[in-house]
Amino acid sequence: MKIKAIRFAKLKVPLVTPFKTALREVSFIEDLVVLIETDCGQLGYGSAAATPVITGDTHQGMISVINQFIAPKLIDMEIANLNQVCHIIQSTVVGNNSAKAALELAVYDLWGKLYQAPLYKLLGGGSKALRTDITISVDGIDKMLADCELAVQQGFDILKVKIGNDLQQDIARINAIYQSFGQQTQIRLDVNQGWSAKQTVFALQQLESKNVQLELVEQPVKSDDFKGLKYITERVNTPIMADESAFSPQQVIQLLEHNAVDIINIKVMKTGGLSRAIEIANITAQYQAQCMIGCMLEGSIAVAGAAHLASAKAQQITKIDLDGPALGQYDPVQGGVEFKGPEITLGDAPGLGITDINGLQHITNGIWPL
Ligand code: MG
Repeated sequence: MKIKAIRFAKLKVPLVTPFKTALREVSFIEDLVVLIETDCGQLGYGSAAATPVITGDTHQGMISVINQFIAPKLIDMEIANLNQVCHIIQSTVVGNNSAKAALELAVYDLWGKLYQAPLYKLLGGGSKALRTDITISVDGIDKMLADCELAVQQGFDILKVKIGNDLQQDIARINAIYQSFGQQTQIRLDVNQGWSAKQTVFALQQLESKNVQLELVEQPVKSDDFKGLKYITERVNTPIMADESAFSPQQVIQLLEHNAVDIINIKVMKTGGLSRAIEIANITAQYQAQCMIGCMLEGSIAVAGAAHLASAKAQQITKIDLDGPALGQYDPVQGGVEFKGPEITLGDAPGLGITDINGLQHITNGIWPL
């Protein structure tokens, strides 16, 4: 099975409710879909969302970097040489992690199709049933409580609450949510770099003294503030997780070597695909640290890849935050992984299991070879 061409398409799905974090507000899942054509007629699917404020990637940028630099090196390569193909994707350009992720996902999809096995089985095997949390966007307290109530009604028992735009209001939000939902749900906080190290310690010590038990607090400080993370981790009992601070295997080693965090949030859009996500899961095992698998606001093609990885690496990946597809009004992807409320179900079709995608808008000037 040889790579013959790489095509691009857009896929847009409206969200049920607009998604708000300390960094941005969006109302659509808008993916760039990468399609890899092979000499035997098999098609590999990968995708990535544009996240300029997180990874710096845009759709146009991804198309350019793939077309100009990576695609020419991949043409005629054998999918069977998976490690070599991934090495080329990772090493041809620096950065551009979302473009690399979309490509790698399509390559792994084809790898599964080559050996006629679902990806999670090729990666080591695991459970077909996973359970995700749901994101509660940052908003006024009443709106956040209403969103939590709706999530609980939909069957979610883990809430990932976005905060981080005002310290005192954030503490009030967490208190209110914990009082109403702390008994029936686990609560994770995602501060999205919104606090300083001292503010975080202040907030968490206050919350801990009131017996507010949070499962974890994600990325309280700026992404490059490793010292701040360590300062916090040394002073609070609540587990601290790195998200925007942990893109590469090297960063993960640095964080864990210095005991700066307790948990690593793996996202294929940060690692540049599955090969380095697997590396990170293996590294955390050496430090007896746990991982969460997360996603950007992206559709079910890329998130399917993350779900297969989570299943196969369940020893390390003990927390699942793959609610991206469930936030859309519908899932245009046929076959593949099923996202239904908190339940994620993997299929046994080869690769990612995708059979068709409704509403793909092909980008005609984005074909390689040009
Ligand atoms: Mg996060």
